[in-house]
Amino acid sequence: MDGKIFDNDISKVVDADRAHVWHHLIQHKPFETGEPRIIVEGRGMRVWDQKGKEHIDAVSGGVWTVNVGYGRERIANAVRDQLVKLPYFANTAGSIPGAIFAEQLIDKMPGMSRVYYTNSGSEANEKAFKMVRQIAHKRYGGKKYKILYRDRDYHGTTISTLSAGGQDERGAQYGPFTPGFIRVPHCLEYRAQWDLSGEEYGIAAANAIEEVILAEGPDTVGALCLEPVTAGGGVIVPPEGYWPRVQEICKKYDILLHIDEVVCGVGRTGTWFGYQHYGIEPDFVTMAKGVASGYAAIACCVTNEKVFDMFKDDATDPMNYFRDISTFGGCTAGPAAAIENMAIIQEEGLLENTVQMGDYMLDQLKALQDKHKVIGDVRGKGLFLGVELVSDRATKEPVDEKLVQAVSGDCAANGVIIGASNRAIPGFNNMLAYSPALIATKDDIDEIVTATDNALTKVFG
Ligand code: PMP
Repeated sequence: MDGKIFDNDISKVVDADRAHVWHHLIQHKPFETGEPRIIVEGRGMRVWDQKGKEHIDAVSGGVWTVNVGYGRERIANAVRDQLVKLPYFANTAGSIPGAIFAEQLIDKMPGMSRVYYTNSGSEANEKAFKMVRQIAHKRYGGKKYKILYRDRDYHGTTISTLSAGGQDERGAQYGPFTPGFIRVPHCLEYRAQWDLSGEEYGIAAANAIEEVILAEGPDTVGALCLEPVTAGGGVIVPPEGYWPRVQEICKKYDILLHIDEVVCGVGRTGTWFGYQHYGIEPDFVTMAKGVASGYAAIACCVTNEKVFDMFKDDATDPMNYFRDISTFGGCTAGPAAAIENMAIIQEEGLLENTVQMGDYMLDQLKALQDKHKVIGDVRGKGLFLGVELVSDRATKEPVDEKLVQAVSGDCAANGVIIGASNRAIPGFNNMLAYSPALIATKDDIDEIVTATDNALTKVFG
C-alpha cells in the first residue's frame, strides 16, 4: 500500500458513511460507538480497509462475486473504452458488447439460445417468473401458473423472489407474498428427512417434488426453480441421483426447469455453470454475481429456443412478445466487463484451478473435522464450501449463531474474511462459508484454513 488512498482524510469518509449510508444486511446500532467497515482497495485475493489493514478475502467480495479477483486492469480498460464509445442505449436496440457476450455465453451453454440482460440476480429470476406466467396465459389458459421452489433455496430480495424463497428467516417480516409459489422439500442429507443415503436419498428427495406436483395438480405447475448447489441456505450439494430424477419429473409433467446460477454461474463450482456437473437440460438459466465478477452490474436470464419461440411464433397477435424492459439492461459496461471476465477465466485456466483448489480446500476443512468436535459437516463443490457447526454431533444440535459470528470475527481480526450466517435459523445457517476467488493458491487456502482452525480453538477450545 502506498498510502495514496488515504489522501482525502479517511476519518471524514468514515463519518460520512456512518451518518448517511444504510448498509445491507446490517444492524446499525453498533456503529453509534464503533466504526463501519470500509473497504478501500483490492488486489488479487486481498483487500485493505480504512485502517490500512490487509485481509485475505475468502468470500469474493462478501457474497460470492469477485470470481477473477481484484485489480483486473484488463476489465477496467475494456469498460472504460466502451463507456467512452457508448455507455448506454435501451436494449430495445442491440449493442456491440451485448451481442458479442451473448454469443460467447451461449457457446458455453449447449442447448440454450437467448440472453435477456438485466441488473441483478433477483431481477433475472423475476424475468423468468414472468416468462413462465406469460407462457401459462398463452398456452394453458392461465392454468399452469404455479412455480415450485425448494426449502432453503434463495432467489432474491424482491417480493416475488422472496415468495419463492426457502429461507423463512429472510422473508418473515415482508409478507403478504405473491401467490402461486409452492415449496418443495430440501435435499440436505446431513439433516435427513428420509432414512436413506447416497443415491437413494437423492432419488427420494426428487420424488418428494413429484408428490408436491401431484398434490397441486400437474396441469397447474408451470416451472420448477432450483439452485444447482444451494448457497446462502447452507451450501447444500444435492446427492447423487437427485438431478436425473428431477429432469425426468419435469419432462413427465411438462414443467419448465429454471436453474438459478446466480452464485454457481461462471466458474464457482469448477464448471462454467453448476448444472453442467449433472448433465441436465434447463429451460431457463439465471446468473449474476460471477458474470462480470462485480466489475459492472450485469445479470442474465438465459432461455432455450423452445421458450423463446413461444414469444415470437405468432407475430399477428399484439400480446405475443415479452412486454418487459430493464432500463439498465441496456448499460454496455456489463457485457464489456463480462467478455473480459470470461476470457480471463478461460486463458488462466481458472476452471481447472477451481476444481484442484476446491478439492484441496475440501480436504483441508475435512481434516479440521478430526480436530474440532464442533464441526458437524463439511460440504461443497469447487471453491464453494461450507462448514456446519453443531454443539453435539449425535443430535446435530446447532451451535448458537453468536458463536458462529465469534469464529468469523476472530478470523477477520486476524486478516481473513470468511462468511458466517447472520440471523440464523437453527439447523441450517449455523455455517461458516467459503468462496475464495477462482485464482486461489494452496498458500491462500492454507492461510484461510489455519485462521479458521485457530478461531475454532479460541471459541470452542
Ligand atoms: N439467487 C441466488 C442463488 C442468490 O444467492 C442471490 C443473491 N445472494 C440472488 C439470487 C439475488 O441476487 P441479487 O442480490 O443480485 O438480486
